Amino acid sequence: MSEATSEPTVETHRFQTEAKQLLKLMIHSLYSNREIFLRELISNASDAIDKLRFKALENPELLGDDADYHIDITFDKEAKTLTITDNGIGMTHDEVITNLGTIAKSGTAEFLSHLTGDQAKDAQLIGQFGVGFYSAFMVADEVEVATLAAGSDQGVLWRSAGEDAYDMEKIERSARGTSVTLHLKDDALDFAEDFRLRSVVRRYSDHIGVPVRMLEQLPETTDEAEDAEVKEPGFEAVNSAQALWTRPRTEVSDEEYTEFYKHVSHDFEDPLSWSHNKVEGKLEYNSLLYLPKRAPFDLYQRDIPRGLKLYVQRVFIMDDAEQFLPLYLRFVKGVIDSNDLPLNVSREILQEDDRVTSIKNALTKRVLNMLDTMAKKEPEKYQAFWDEFGEVLKEGAGEDFANREALAKLLRFASTKGEGSKKTVSLDRYLERKSEDQDVIYYICSETYETASRSPHLEMFKDRDVEVLLMFDRIDEWLMSSLTQYGDVQFVDVMRGDVTLPGEAKDADDNEETNDEEDEKHPLVERISAVLGDKVDKVRPSKRLTQSPACLVLSEDAMGVQMRKILEASGQSMPESKPIFEFNPNHLLLQRLDMEPDEDRFAELVGILFDQASLAEGGALTDPGAYVERLNRLLLELLDSDK
Ligand code: ADP
Repeated sequence: MSEATSEPTVETHRFQTEAKQLLKLMIHSLYSNREIFLRELISNASDAIDKLRFKALENPELLGDDADYHIDITFDKEAKTLTITDNGIGMTHDEVITNLGTIAKSGTAEFLSHLTGDQAKDAQLIGQFGVGFYSAFMVADEVEVATLAAGSDQGVLWRSAGEDAYDMEKIERSARGTSVTLHLKDDALDFAEDFRLRSVVRRYSDHIGVPVRMLEQLPETTDEAEDAEVKEPGFEAVNSAQALWTRPRTEVSDEEYTEFYKHVSHDFEDPLSWSHNKVEGKLEYNSLLYLPKRAPFDLYQRDIPRGLKLYVQRVFIMDDAEQFLPLYLRFVKGVIDSNDLPLNVSREILQEDDRVTSIKNALTKRVLNMLDTMAKKEPEKYQAFWDEFGEVLKEGAGEDFANREALAKLLRFASTKGEGSKKTVSLDRYLERKSEDQDVIYYICSETYETASRSPHLEMFKDRDVEVLLMFDRIDEWLMSSLTQYGDVQFVDVMRGDVTLPGEAKDADDNEETNDEEDEKHPLVERISAVLGDKVDKVRPSKRLTQSPACLVLSEDAMGVQMRKILEASGQSMPESKPIFEFNPNHLLLQRLDMEPDEDRFAELVGILFDQASLAEGGALTDPGAYVERLNRLLLELLDSDK
């Protein structure tokens, strides 16, 4: 399809580097499921119509005499072309360059740097990124986009073979909207077949709220038909063209829900789960919320658009309405269609509207319920969800006071009784299997699974078979600083203060004074204190160690190691916080140390014990050079004594 050009001036533009890479990837990685290109183009066409419908609320003149929205698919078998035409918002010259020549998503370069060259893996990654317009190049050697923006009188033609560059020229075009014409590759000629196209449209685009039309297939005319007026085929809708969320739940199939998800989310994979609801009463709205299977690559990037598609009385209002869900549920995709909000609602109004707050509270509960039910009925599926989104949910458990209990129930942790670093233990499960005399939940926070699970602080717990939750996500210390109890059970950080084992708690409290006195009596306390000086707050014999010679203990109110590092990395200066140095009086090393007469050598050995204790916690040494020197001197002595 080519339209007469008004000026023969053709501009050639180069694709932005990222766009070029993405194009290449699209052509080479997604080969197995090429037909989805049609879904993507229809989805874009439908978005373009939604945008115009919204704009026309204020500017009805934009519609001219063409207010009947539709998407038309035509093909020409001889010419090997397929064309998708919409009468939506269209694009101006500059919009064509920005939309089709560049990729504006933040983080694209980073995303591309994760690609491996392994087609299967890359295909999955690109799915997370969103497939989009460039998928047309999976089936086409060349793509032409002719477009006229609503309200403009200058048409534009964009043409590219999907390599380095694209051409643009001004064209005469009277019809508002966009036509995308694909010059099909020889191995994709099935997309110039009526039957094939209809089945792909029904399969992927049935839920689109505007009619997707194709030319009627008229019966072959026979020679004898005298009264045969030659009838021109008209367009007929191929899809059911009813917004999916307005249909009763019982009438929508899983396939339809799945395809609709791909349309709203631009995700390539199926959703993990969904919840479709119609709410009537004081507030009336339909909501259709989806949980994706996989976390998007930019889940942790701030300032990227997220949120639901907002409709008011079936009219599309905006994408990425983030006011309907809390930030920690930013991975949820879907649609909210309100009957109460005004059609001219703006982001600012949404921010302050009480109705929006009520809907947000209800949707939040709905998502948490959906997760709770999944956790109970389909624990494996929930585990897959947790592996992808657990850390984001922890943000909620730390900040959403109204839903804290529900969120805490959903948390999963690794534990000393779990399998490796897998985070599978719920707090309920922990409470269920603890011994009766244990009345708190023990946990340890560290930077990695290895430092947490091998921490000397766990020794007495392991010896007594008491379960400790192992936390090593960046967010954990922050989470635990606000989540201090579950139900009425307190959390206890085993790295802090005077930890007591189940059954011992009472005695220890009663005898605190005597204990302290006894601690100070140990002959090593004074000698070690003299060496460590103001590096530590205190030196005392340990009750928590059974194997290691020494460890560092945080005082109750000190900032944890993890949080400290994060804040330091962000450039904040931290007040110095001194640990308590605990030594294991039963350890052979300490018993020998006690007998060391040479004070210099004693000091050297204590220095090493102190540094080792910080290392075991994943802490950084203040003077690593000195540690290495000391250790080397000892090694040398050792070798010399062997001679
Ligand atoms: P996405 O749809 O995920 O934003 P695409 O690569 O599919 O990414 O499309 C890029 C942009 O091009 C769209 O966001 C839209 O602005 C524009 N676009 C694509 N197709 C059309 C169309 N038929 N009409 C108007 N604009 C379109």
